[in-house]
Amino acid sequence: SPAIVWFRRDLRLGDHPALLEAADRAGSAVALYVLDDALRDRSGAPRLDFLYGCLRALDDQLGGRLLVVHGDPVDAVPRVARAFGAGSVHVSADAGPYGRRRDERVEQALGDVELVRTGSPYAVTPGRVTKDDGTPFKVFTPFSRAWARHGWRAPASTSKSTVEWVDPGDKSGGPRRVRVPTAPAHSATLPEPGERAALEHWSDFLEGPLRDYKRDRDKPGVDGTSRMSAYLRWGCVHPRTLLADLAGHSGDGPDTYRTELAWRDFYADVLWNQPRTARENFNERFDAIEHDSGPHADEHHRAWAEGRTGFPIVDAGMRQLLAEGWVHNRVRMIVASFYAKDLHLPWWRGARHFMQHLVDGDLASNQHGWQWTAGSGTDASPYFRVFNPTTQAEKFDPTGDYVRKYVPELRGIEGKKVHQPQDNPPNGYPTPIVDHAHERQVALDRYNKIKA
Ligand code: FAD
Repeated sequence: SPAIVWFRRDLRLGDHPALLEAADRAGSAVALYVLDDALRDRSGAPRLDFLYGCLRALDDQLGGRLLVVHGDPVDAVPRVARAFGAGSVHVSADAGPYGRRRDERVEQALGDVELVRTGSPYAVTPGRVTKDDGTPFKVFTPFSRAWARHGWRAPASTSKSTVEWVDPGDKSGGPRRVRVPTAPAHSATLPEPGERAALEHWSDFLEGPLRDYKRDRDKPGVDGTSRMSAYLRWGCVHPRTLLADLAGHSGDGPDTYRTELAWRDFYADVLWNQPRTARENFNERFDAIEHDSGPHADEHHRAWAEGRTGFPIVDAGMRQLLAEGWVHNRVRMIVASFYAKDLHLPWWRGARHFMQHLVDGDLASNQHGWQWTAGSGTDASPYFRVFNPTTQAEKFDPTGDYVRKYVPELRGIEGKKVHQPQDNPPNGYPTPIVDHAHERQVALDRYNKIKA
C-alpha cells in the first residue's frame, strides 16, 4: 500500500527527510496538500498568492500528481489515507502552536494509520538544543553557540524519483480533488514561487552578495541580503541545504549568514517551548505597560499602516511592505520600534498587520522580532534604547536612495536631506504625526513604571 506524503511548510522535493522516510516504508506515495481555511483566514492575498504559486510549481514537478483537497485536515487526511489504503502518513514536524495541535488531532483521527514526523523546517528541530540541565535557552548568543555545537545533518538526497508517485486522479472515495485556487487580487510584486526559483535565487546570492553580506546586510538601499525568507517560510528549500552550501564559501559572509539562520531556529525553539509567546509578552512584566487606545490610536495605526506618518524611513518601510510583501530587516526594526515606542501601540496589533502582508510572515520570527523591538522579548534591547527614526535613517540609508524608491513625494530631495523633509516639506507629504523627542520621554516614563 502507498504512503501519504502530506506537504505543509515543505513545498519541495529536494532535501526532504519525510519523503525519504516514506520511500523507505513504501515504494509508492500520494502527494497531498490540504487547503485549510483556518490558515487561509490568517493570510493576506500576497502570501496566499505565493503559497498557491508554490503549490502549482510542486504539482508541475510531480507531473500533475499533487492531490489538493479542501477541508479540515483532521477530517481530510484520514479520508485520503483510507481512500488509498495507505499504511502511513509522512510529515515534517510543525513547531507552531496551531500546527502541533492540528497534528495531534490528525494523529488520533488516523487510528491505525501511523502519522510519521521526520525532520522539521529547521536546521535543528525545535526542542533539541538545550542548556546542560536540559532547560531551554532564553538568550540568543548561548543558544547559537550550543546550536552550532549540536550541528545538523547533511542534506537528504531526495528528488522526484525517490518514490513512485501515485496518480490521484483515478481514485474515488476520499475528499474531492480541487484545483489550486487563485488568490484574491493584490498589487504587490512577488518573487517567483517554488523550489526551482528558490535554488536559482540562492545560487545568485552565493555567487554575488554573500561575499559582502556582513558589510551590506544592514543597508536597506543596497540589495545586500538574500531575500530567501519567503522560500524558507514555505519550505521551498531546507535551511540545511543553505548551511551545506555556505560551508563551501570563505570569508565572513557565510559566518554572518549562519548566525541569521540561527536566529530563525532560536525563535522557533522559543515558540515551541512557550507557545503562549505567540500572543503574550515573553517577559510578563510588560503585561502592565500602558498602551494608547481609542480613536486617536486607531488613526495613528492607520497612518503607520498606510505609510503616511511624516517620518520618511517609516513610511518607506510600510510602503515597501504593501508593494513587495517584504521589508528589509533594519527597517522592520525601525517601523516596529516607531509603532511601540513613538505611537505607544501594542506590539501584537502591529505584528498582526505584518502577518497579513508579509509573504515570509512566520509566527515565530514575526512575534519574537516584534517583541525584541518592543522590549518584551528575549534578548530585548534595553527599555531605554528608543530608536530615533531620523538618526537610524541617516546611518543606515546614508544616500537616501531607499526612501526615494518607496516615497515618490520625496524624490525631489537629494542625498540624506530626504530624511528631514519637515524643513522643506514637498506638496502631498504629511508633516510628522508625532514629536519623537516627546514620545520618547512618554515611552521611558511608562517603562519606568513597570521596571522591577
Ligand atoms: P537575510 O539577511 O538574507 O537572512 C537570511 C535568513 O535568515 C532569512 O531569510 C531568515 O530566514 C533568517 N533571519 C534573518 N534575520 C532573522 C531574524 N531577526 N529572526 C529570524 N530569522 C531571521 N522573518 C521572517 O522570516 N518572517 C517574519 O514574519 C519576520 N518578521 C519580523 C518582524 C520584525 C519586527 C523583525 C524585526 C524581524 C522579522 N523577521 C521575520 C526577521 C527578518 O527581518 C527577516 O527574516 C529578513 O528581513 C528576511 O530577509 P532576507 O531573507 O533577505 O534576510
